[in-house]
Amino acid sequence: RAKQLHGCSYAIFEADKDTDPATQITLEPELWSGLRQEQFVLYYQPRIDLRTGKIIGAEALMRWNHPERGLVQPDEFIPIAEKTGLIVPMGYWAIHQAGQDMLKFKEAGFRYGSIGVNLSFRQFKDDFLAKTIRRIIDKNQIDPHRLEFELTETALFSDEAHVQSCLKELSALGIDFSLDDFGTGYSSFSLLQKLPISTLKIDKSFVAGVNQNKDDEEIVRAIINLAHNLQKKVIAEGVENKAQLEFLIRHDCDQVQGYFFSPPVPIEDFMRMLRGN
Ligand code: C2E
Ligand code: MG
Ligand code: MG
Ligand code: MG
Repeated sequence: RAKQLHGCSYAIFEADKDTDPATQITLEPELWSGLRQEQFVLYYQPRIDLRTGKIIGAEALMRWNHPERGLVQPDEFIPIAEKTGLIVPMGYWAIHQAGQDMLKFKEAGFRYGSIGVNLSFRQFKDDFLAKTIRRIIDKNQIDPHRLEFELTETALFSDEAHVQSCLKELSALGIDFSLDDFGTGYSSFSLLQKLPISTLKIDKSFVAGVNQNKDDEEIVRAIINLAHNLQKKVIAEGVENKAQLEFLIRHDCDQVQGYFFSPPVPIEDFMRMLRGN
């Protein structure tokens, strides 16, 4: 009871106007116990290399295997985890779990490029972010060259110096960074140059407009050109149909990810895909 009270006051303290406070209060202690009881799982969504047509990697996406609610999607718990700070331990769990899974891929002899793990802006408020990630990598024999972190533009603007030093320290280990949901946040071109970001991920809202809306098509083309002019790779997310795929191939996009190929799937299913890759 006391613990729950503590959870409540903390939740209220950090609460935002856009989340129903009642939902947030009931969910925070549940998220804690979910983490302790290993109720979280990573699903994998393949990324396809457009030059070879093969799977070149995947994005690891968190799901909550809730004992009563069933499989809970990130939109229902990540925002609350961010507001309460729980995303920090959850984020470390995700890196650890992705590392375990990568060992399985290695043992099976699969060929693939890298696995992307999402890092929330909130995780950069942890002073020990880079150090803790290093420790997780060392302790668990994770290959840093196969690990990629997906950041959103909001992460880059929290504390510029801290973000910059974290990214530098981790990229020195061989970890790649990509900028997620690109085009929806603030895009400072000087930061794009300054930070070790190797890939831009075109937000799915723009991809959805391909073959529907000329402006979205122009934005997609502009992001592809920007990425290539800055010597970066570019990935389109949210590819749902053949027309979008053909547009992306025509405009020289490097990789795609989306329901047209596969939704995020449990690790066993992803391994089955890699087997036939
Ligand atoms: P994101 O990183 O931008 O991930 C892409 C989202 O697009 C995923 O939603 C994926 O399932 C969805 N998606 C993929 N292909 C398609 C498509 O063809 N059409 C449509 N409409 N959607 C598609 P998901 O798995 O629900 O995750 C939502 C967001 O939650 C992620 O967006 C990410 O911001 C966050 N998230 C998920 N797992 C983690 C995690 O481990 N850590 C952190 N910090 N955030 C996470
Ligand atoms: Mg992502
Ligand atoms: Mg993404
Ligand atoms: Mg995205």
